[in-house]
Amino acid sequence: MTSTHLPFGHPAWIEIDLKQFKKNIKAIQNHVGHAKICLAIKANAYGHGLIPIAREAVKAGVHCLAVASLQEGALLREAGIKIPVLVFGAIHDEQISGLLNYDLEFSISSRLKAELVKKKCEALQKKCRVHLEIDTGMQRTGVRLSSALDLLNDLVQMKCFDIAGVYSHLATADNPDNEFAHHQIKSFQKFIREEVKSKDKNIICHIANSSGISYYPESHMDMVRPGILAYGYFPTQHNEKLKDIAPIFSVKAKIVYFKVVSKGQGIGYSHTYKTQEDSRILTIPVGYGDGYRRGLSNKGEVLIRGKRYPIVGNICMDQLMVNIGQDEAYVGEEVTLIGKQEHEEIKLTEVAKLCDTITYEILCGFNNRLPRMYIDDGQVFFEDKRH
Ligand SMILES: *Cc1c(COP(=O)(O)O)cnc(C)c1O
Repeated sequence: MTSTHLPFGHPAWIEIDLKQFKKNIKAIQNHVGHAKICLAIKANAYGHGLIPIAREAVKAGVHCLAVASLQEGALLREAGIKIPVLVFGAIHDEQISGLLNYDLEFSISSRLKAELVKKKCEALQKKCRVHLEIDTGMQRTGVRLSSALDLLNDLVQMKCFDIAGVYSHLATADNPDNEFAHHQIKSFQKFIREEVKSKDKNIICHIANSSGISYYPESHMDMVRPGILAYGYFPTQHNEKLKDIAPIFSVKAKIVYFKVVSKGQGIGYSHTYKTQEDSRILTIPVGYGDGYRRGLSNKGEVLIRGKRYPIVGNICMDQLMVNIGQDEAYVGEEVTLIGKQEHEEIKLTEVAKLCDTITYEILCGFNNRLPRMYIDDGQVFFEDKRH
């Protein structure tokens, strides 16, 4: 890829492998059998770019998309996405008419909110599709299991509601054999069997996030809600049954500067690194302002010519420095910060560990400053230049 392909010729970018993304969706579908897929696409599709990923997911045949807020749902509708979109979490009074007008599905987890929605539906003469959210142990949003039946009955009574689904969320399923996760799944299933399916078999019941999909087959039910797994990462342990899952996110750049620094010189802000010998120091145009974490200062590595080299000194807002010792590399050569190069790979999991966090947080941290380059079987395009 030459820089002339890049918007404004920017010498750093995020690369997204859409072909592998489709493989990931297929692998999940094969693994969950008849269950539908609701792809979690919140937070800019975990940093992968909301609209391109939404379009690809539609093509891959997912049943619906899930976002965290009205704002994210509206972006999908304005981009022409027609499939069901579910907004997770509690709804805010001031957002109800927006949710209705954008034709979004949303969660109901209290009688009070149900009444507010009903009023709005009457005023706008609209019906809406909702999912009853039950809290089986996350202690976040959702009606308690002990009040869930009353609320379900209320919703059935209120004619404005089309009950599309009933769902819950797993708190501890990232641990592959966790007693509490088993308990959550069992108590949710009991409620579904006894109180939901007996009323209406078509209500979609769902509890599995990526952890549920990967480690708890009994959690798959009518629909699964993958997020991180669809982007190529296991929440914790690898599962052989999903061996086709692979990451689709890379961060790459070009060397923009080269200098020889003599022994004993401090590098960058606060001089947190000093050269141990005469060294060749490269400047790479990626920094914490792009989402490449400053915590990787003097810890992270990059790939050049298929070899690992250390980041030296504090990472700046827009740039970072790399020490290649006495090795050779020229301005304009490609550097991989996350992803594969030749036979070497810097995994996101490794980067997350160095930053003392999870893959999710590193991915979401990449903002819109680095352009996203989408590659689909050799075809290349950018976020803002397709369709
Ligand atoms: C974000 C989210 C998911 C997806 O979580 P992953 O761990 O990325 O699979 C599923 N369900 C709910 C309610 C969520 O908020």
